[in-house]
This record gives sequence, C-alpha cells and structure tokens, in this order.
Amino acid sequence: MAAKKLLILPGDGIGVEVIGQARRIIDWLEKKRGISFEISEGLLGGIAYDKTGTPFPKDTLDKAMEADAVLLGAVGGPQWDNLPFDKKPERGLLGIRKEMGLFANLRPAVVFEELADASSLKSDLVAGLDIMIVRELTGGMYFGEPRGVETLPDGSRRGFNTMVYTTEEIRRIGKVAFEIARERGKRVCSVDKANVLECTLLWREEMTKLRDEEYPDVELTHMLVDNAAMQLVRFPKQFDVMVTENTFGDILSDCASMLTGSLGMLPSASWGAPDARGVRRALYEPSHGSAPDIAGKDMANPIATILSLSMCLRYSFGLTKEADMIDGAIKAVLKGGLRTADIMQPGKARVSTSVMGESIIRELDKLA
Ligand code: NAD
Repeated sequence: MAAKKLLILPGDGIGVEVIGQARRIIDWLEKKRGISFEISEGLLGGIAYDKTGTPFPKDTLDKAMEADAVLLGAVGGPQWDNLPFDKKPERGLLGIRKEMGLFANLRPAVVFEELADASSLKSDLVAGLDIMIVRELTGGMYFGEPRGVETLPDGSRRGFNTMVYTTEEIRRIGKVAFEIARERGKRVCSVDKANVLECTLLWREEMTKLRDEEYPDVELTHMLVDNAAMQLVRFPKQFDVMVTENTFGDILSDCASMLTGSLGMLPSASWGAPDARGVRRALYEPSHGSAPDIAGKDMANPIATILSLSMCLRYSFGLTKEADMIDGAIKAVLKGGLRTADIMQPGKARVSTSVMGESIIRELDKLA
C-alpha cells in the first residue's frame, strides 16, 4: 500500500500540544498496524508569521498541494492581535482553506454516552447521538453578488446580499452528503427554505434529482430550516446526515455542536474537489481554537484532534478499521473514568493532555 501523505500543521497555543498526541497515535499506527505514512510538517498562523513574516508561507501551500490530507491544530493568540489584518494568524487559516478550494465542511456531533450529562439537553435525548452536518462553504449569501450598503436618494441606507447557488454547486455538495451517508446510516436530510426562497427551491429540486439519478440507495428527506433548528434541540437522534447551504449550515452546525457539551470533543473536516490524482483535497482540524488561557499547561483535551485524525483515516485514507479502533479507544478511556479538565465530572479522575494521549494508546493496544 502506498504511503499516506499527511501534512501536519500544529499552529499555535494548544494546537502544538493536541497535535503532539495525534502524532503519538500516528506512530502507533505505523508500529502496530504497519501503516506507512509520509509525514511532512509546516508552519501556519502566528508561528509562521514569527518565523517567515507571513501567516501562510508558500512552503506550506506547496506541501498542502502535494499531501493526500492535512491535519491542523489551531492558530491564533493575543501576541498577534495587533498585527495588520493580512498578517493575522487567522488569515493563514482562511488562506489555506481558499487555496485548497475547500467547499464542504463536515462537522460530526457525536455524544459519547459517558459525557451525555455535559450537554445542555437532557442526557437521554443526546446519549449516543451521532449526526453529521455537511455545510456548503464557498457559496450562498456569504459570497453572492451583488452585495453592499447603498445610500438612497432620501438619505436612508439600504443593505443587501444575494443568496445564489448554481446546479453545479448544489450537486457537488450533495454528492459529498450522499457519499458520507453511504458510509453511515444511508439517510440524508436536506435543509432549505423552499417555501420562501427560490434559490433553495432550486436546492431542493437538484438534491432530489441527484438522489434519483445517482444515489437511489440513500433515503432523502427535506426539512425547512426553522423546523430543522427546532428538531435539532427537540429530538436530534432522528438525523443521520444533514446537508445544507452556507448560512443555514453556519447556524445549525454551531447549534448541533452544543448538543455535545465541550469544544474539546469536536472534530471537523473540510473537503475540496478531487485533484489530478483523484484524491479529494481535505483538511482535518478540531473545532476549537488555540485556547491561550490554557496553552502550555498540559491541560488541553486532545480528543477533538484525535477524532479529526480518525476522520482523516476513515474518509481520506480508507482506513475504516483503524478509525473505528481510535473511536473505540476514546470511548473506553472515557468509560474508564479519565477526564481532561474541560470534561471533568464528579467522581472521575482528572488527567493531563499527555496522560489522555497515553491512555488512548493503552486502549488501542488492547484493541489491536
Ligand atoms: P478557543 O476555542 O481557543 O477557546 C474557547 C474556550 O474553550 C477557552 O476557555 C479554552 O480554554 C477552551 N478550550 C478550547 N479548546 C479546548 C480543548 N481542546 N481543551 C480544553 N479546553 C478547550 O476560542 P477563543 O478563546 O475564542 O480563541 C482563542 C484564539 O484561537 C483566538 O486567537 C482565535 O482567533 C483562535 N481561533 C482559532 C481557530 C482555529 O484555529 N480553527 C478557531 C477558533 C478560534
């Protein structure tokens, strides 16, 4: 099997610490499962600015374009807050997402039974929750033209944005959702506002056509976005894969993430189109930031990053068994009562970032 080319970008703050634990898992996969990785490392964010004068060096872009996938920690920190806009760490993140053409954002909302109490919802509503929100990332109202604020002849002002999607844009995100659903529960709920917005009526029609033409084995339902928001907090376990446009997805994915209780548990993936080799460009990262308040204290929860690695194995490298093993090892560690500070519960044992990493590896050894 060809070596899996993975670019690792630790970034800033706790990014470095949580990526350190993901690297231990990669080492374990190489040693114990015989998987061959070709790892490169690059600079992104504040550290990149400090070392090269830009938050997104050309070397990082070149490595990202050559890699089969990218695993990112987090970027940012107060020491870079006063830099000019184009030098800020976050520009590095936006830059790499743009250059890689990442149009699909995948955010699983998974609640491990052991942490169901941490949710703001009643634990029986969320225990065992496993849904995937697929959000279109490069179209819709956030980018549509015309846009702006104009002054009218009477001196009052008018602000406007345009929600726009083409058939091609809808089908491309639809394919991502249907393909992921095939790996899971084979159910897609497409969210729109087809009763009011023509653009999303087209969305609904194209999703239906795509399913009928290419994914007859996947069940497709449609839901209006206001109802979807309500259903996410009423009975979230009814969903398998939810696909929606940019603005609706921005709101619904944050709503879904809160069902799980802690930022330290939330992985994410962003996908682009397949490249010349047929490999889909992909960036995997935890949903949290660089957490300057706890950086350097060996306190951060590495699970979101390790789950991001698991997504990378599952979706970019086709290593389903290893991804299942990692998810299982995390579950076992939580079941055994170990918790980092952010997910601490009465009667459980509080552990550091590195002990959490070590404990996951110990469970992997048992599963191997
Ligand atoms: P944050 O996600 O870094 O932190 C929010 C809170 O959650 C903090 O109290 C932090 O301690 C806690 N937290 C986050 N991740 C955790 C983990 N793994 N384990 C335990 N606790 C965790 O958000 P913020 O404080 O708003 O932003 C801090 C910096 O990160 C800013 O510079 C911001 O621009 C940047 N940021 C980067 C990304 C990214 O790289 N994708 C995302 C969001 C924010």
